[in-house]
Amino acid sequence: MKVVVVGAGLGGVAAAVGLHRLGHEVTLFERGAELREAGTGIVVMPNGLRALEALGLADGVRGQVIHAARGGLRDWRGRPLLVTDAIQAQREIGTPAIMDRAELHRALRAPLPADLVRTATPVERLEPDPTGVTVISGEKPVTRADVVIAADGRGSRLRGQLIPGHPGLRRTGRMDLRGMLPRPPGLVTDLLVCQLVDRRSGAMFGLFPVGENRLYWFTDSALHGTPPGADEARRQMLSLMADWHPLVTALIEATPPADIYVDPITRLAEPLPSFAAGRIALLGDAAHAMPPDLGQGASQAFEDAAALARHLTDANPANVAQRLLDYDAERRPRTNRIMRAASRQSRMTSQTGVAGWFRDALLRAIPSRLATRQLAALWQALGE
Ligand SMILES: Cc1cc2nc3c(=O)[nH]c(=O)nc-3n(C[C@H](O)[C@H](O)[C@H](O)COP(=O)(O)OP(=O)(O)OC[C@H]3O[C@@H](n4cnc5c(N)ncnc54)[C@H](O)[C@@H]3O)c2cc1C
Repeated sequence: MKVVVVGAGLGGVAAAVGLHRLGHEVTLFERGAELREAGTGIVVMPNGLRALEALGLADGVRGQVIHAARGGLRDWRGRPLLVTDAIQAQREIGTPAIMDRAELHRALRAPLPADLVRTATPVERLEPDPTGVTVISGEKPVTRADVVIAADGRGSRLRGQLIPGHPGLRRTGRMDLRGMLPRPPGLVTDLLVCQLVDRRSGAMFGLFPVGENRLYWFTDSALHGTPPGADEARRQMLSLMADWHPLVTALIEATPPADIYVDPITRLAEPLPSFAAGRIALLGDAAHAMPPDLGQGASQAFEDAAALARHLTDANPANVAQRLLDYDAERRPRTNRIMRAASRQSRMTSQTGVAGWFRDALLRAIPSRLATRQLAALWQALGE
């Protein structure tokens, strides 16, 4: 079958490789001038790793699994609120990996022959008819396909075409900063794989190791109005977190603004009524953009890609529309559940005032063994 994938993000690349390996004739269209993934670190959860494994893409990612004895939530000074035994949780449900985004993208796209990729080709429109889909770029037809996978990200233009009337994205009122930097020599800290929350401002800071030599940090805080540039956002965060654990401000200060990414956080205003329309299907953020609080966005895109590869095994132009409906039936209920859980998690960590005080008191009262069991249960539920 002739398959077009639109969008060469993490999800689109994983899908293109999976479908190419099934023997389909794949073309991957990307609007950017080159194939690349910008950004800092990314957590790939155990369920995402399992999906990559099913696609034959887990080599190189498995080496990046997190080795941390503890995780959980702490207050802004680094005092434990909810300490989990990460080793025990990982024993039960598997280990997440934390990677440099650019390296992950490179590893995923490596098996894709270069002649299947068309960069600098923004797809503006898809024109389906009873025998196929015409792909339009630069107001001209660029190819025809038996099936098109729209993996064009959270701002997806094709989603609006496929699901007319859908309200699209909504801002959550939060902003995230992300940075990566060399690990300071000799640094020993129990803040790794932790999130620090502050009930006074509702802000959060998270810290992860990337391999042996680098650290990835992120902040999450309220956004009022237009998101600032990296310079101003860094200044604001240093002021907001001035009395936090000293490592927090030291790491933000040590990261040059050019290496800091600022994102206003968005999610789908409403879940989609379908991921499939005839011979066209949505995948990844285009289908289920969610807040990053559970670290599931890319893992869900990998699960989409693995499910799509399963449903399109031995598919042909005559049965592909039904196969895409099967893909939708498998994936949409699960991603809807995870979108809701991510929004709940975001509300929980950003609580302020009395609600924040009760949250902290409740978290402190949960024994570590129970917290570990709950974390394992959450991961298990996400992995099913
Ligand atoms: C602050 C933050 C932190 C996050 N942390 C994590 C994390 O730790 N773990 C995790 O799993 N997820 C995380 N995520 C989410 C994760 O980054 C996304 O879910 C994932 O990258 C989505 O991949 P995608 O391929 O669906 O979309 P994208 O990565 O957005 O890729 C879309 C691609 O399509 C291209 N494109 C767009 N329109 C067109 C067009 N018309 N024609 C051709 N090409 C087009 C774009 O150029 C892009 O290359 C985070 C997100 C944010 C904002």
